[in-house]
Amino acid sequence: MIRDELSQAGLHLIIKRKKVKHINLHFDNSNILQISVPISTTEQRIDEALQIKRDWIFKCQKILLEKDSRVKIKPDIFILMGEEYQIEYDPTLINSCKFDYINKKVINSFKIVSDSQRAHIYKIYAKEYLIPLTFQYAQRMGFKINKVSIRGQKTLWGTCSHSGNISLNWKLILTPEFVIDYLIYHELLHTRHHNHGKIYKKELRQLYPRTDEAELWLKQHSQLLKLY
Ligand SMILES: [Zn+2]
Repeated sequence: MIRDELSQAGLHLIIKRKKVKHINLHFDNSNILQISVPISTTEQRIDEALQIKRDWIFKCQKILLEKDSRVKIKPDIFILMGEEYQIEYDPTLINSCKFDYINKKVINSFKIVSDSQRAHIYKIYAKEYLIPLTFQYAQRMGFKINKVSIRGQKTLWGTCSHSGNISLNWKLILTPEFVIDYLIYHELLHTRHHNHGKIYKKELRQLYPRTDEAELWLKQHSQLLKLY
């Protein structure tokens, strides 16, 4: 079904019956597709029109998503959970960094922060923040997990093995808090279901009601995974 395919791609359809002669499609933004149709148009006719325009729809969506996900990261700031942190240099620290959460500062030992040093700092923060948070959620919701590690995959936000080992991408800390929470719940639930089947999806929405919103956010910001 074309409508299922569109919805799986994160597209919401808005159908407007109007006094128009032809079916017209246009994007409101990367996730809303509006269709104006003559008042008497059948649902089947709308499906046919969507099917004919399928390639055009996905092409437009791709262009819009790329526009949305252009990440602007300035050289003198860090973005941690959607918040900007200023970078400060402290030569007494050796190959490490400290986070001042109150004043929103990252104090680090590198005078000039290169991409690899930046990634290094992000990883330290990710370990400090994501690992205890995952154990905390696991305990709260009764999931048995073994180990949590931080990795830097280019294509995955996280994984969960059959033996309950969870890995999370450090780039997650560049995303807002509700997306981080979503991904942790997503991986925790994989300790019970090792697939993305219907039961899994239903339980995930119950476990984390902002699932759809978070999945859309991740889809729109997939470029973040390719950073560094
Ligand atoms: Zn999954």
